[in-house]
Amino acid sequence: MIKVKKRKVLLLPGDGIGPEVTKEVRKIIEWFNKNKSLDFEIDEDLAGGASYDKHGTPITDEVFYKALESEVVILGAVGGPKWDNLEFSKKPERALLKLRKELKLFANLRPAICFKQLVDASSLKPEIVSGLDIMIVRELTGGIYFGEPRGIKPIDKGERKGINTHTYTTSEIVRVAKVAFDLAKKRANKVTSCEKSNVMEAGQLWKEEVQALHDKEYKDVELNHMLADNCAMQLLRNPKQFDVIVTDNLFGDMLSDQASMLTGSLGLLPSASLGAKNKNGEMRAMYEPIHGAAPDIAGKGIANPIATILSFAMALKYSLDLDKDAEGLEKAVQSVLDDGLRTKDILTKGMKEVSTTEMGDAIISKLK
Ligand code: NAD
Repeated sequence: MIKVKKRKVLLLPGDGIGPEVTKEVRKIIEWFNKNKSLDFEIDEDLAGGASYDKHGTPITDEVFYKALESEVVILGAVGGPKWDNLEFSKKPERALLKLRKELKLFANLRPAICFKQLVDASSLKPEIVSGLDIMIVRELTGGIYFGEPRGIKPIDKGERKGINTHTYTTSEIVRVAKVAFDLAKKRANKVTSCEKSNVMEAGQLWKEEVQALHDKEYKDVELNHMLADNCAMQLLRNPKQFDVIVTDNLFGDMLSDQASMLTGSLGLLPSASLGAKNKNGEMRAMYEPIHGAAPDIAGKGIANPIATILSFAMALKYSLDLDKDAEGLEKAVQSVLDDGLRTKDILTKGMKEVSTTEMGDAIISKLK
């Protein structure tokens, strides 16, 4: 079998259930190495609380440079009560924020897909969510979470003032909107851009720049503008009207959480954070499940590995241009669900309960 060039993958399992679900992804990558003409070079290291316990920091410089040199970073999850009282700069979550910021991962992609086999897991009526397939593109490195000035300042007579600043520039808006338009072209060709242009100047600029980019480069894609509060409502009323939603950091944080819950379980949803392409067309990227470290079930062997496995499928698609292999992996997941295998979080009557490892093995057995 002729092997193509080595592709560097860095696994950062993290804390809680992170190592359990990442182990299943490792098995899948090893399957690809053995059975396909692919050559993944897998490295694994500490991040989050596990790194703090060993090195006194949530991410060492060495691991950070490894991430810089890897084509794909897959992060399990970080955090847990053990580290809750650490000072801010030592908290496990700082590892995540540092990677996002320093790798300049400005576009966060969060699909909300409702698997037909799991339609009953949603709190909405089956007819509203069945077949749902939305992609939310959230701007990740700008807006109110990063804007200056910020802080808490004393004012008069014991009063204090909390300040955060919401700013966006043309280039910040255009680069994330491009990601959304390009994605839409591979999907249902429709983008909904959300802001609050009725009350915020930065929202007005967002709307104008997205429209200008559309008129210049993406006339063939359908574009709608929607106020973010209306979008929150429409996501519950008629979510299937959306294909790709693009929005800023703050609104994206909330809308993507809301959309993910339409699908029923945290254990199923992947995400990707993408940076800019360099002149060789290479892109920095990190892939992670949307769930956290789930300390309540850590070590019990019952965590659902599907979100992390589908995060690797996103890596195959967006970082490595291996769309067919990504689809193969997604189909393997569907097929296992068709067979009625379920981890505890998605177990319903008549289905067979399996452990984290059994779910990983079952998915591998379906790969072709
Ligand atoms: P969580 O996502 O860890 O857990 C919420 C609930 O969902 C829990 O009941 C958990 O058991 C369940 N759950 C989550 N993932 C699951 C899976 N794969 N399979 C089965 N059940 C699953 O959120 P939380 O409880 O708010 O946070 C726990 C810790 O994780 C905190 O320290 C938090 O800061 C951290 N966290 C990390 C990330 C990240 O690393 N990206 C994201 C969110 C929270």
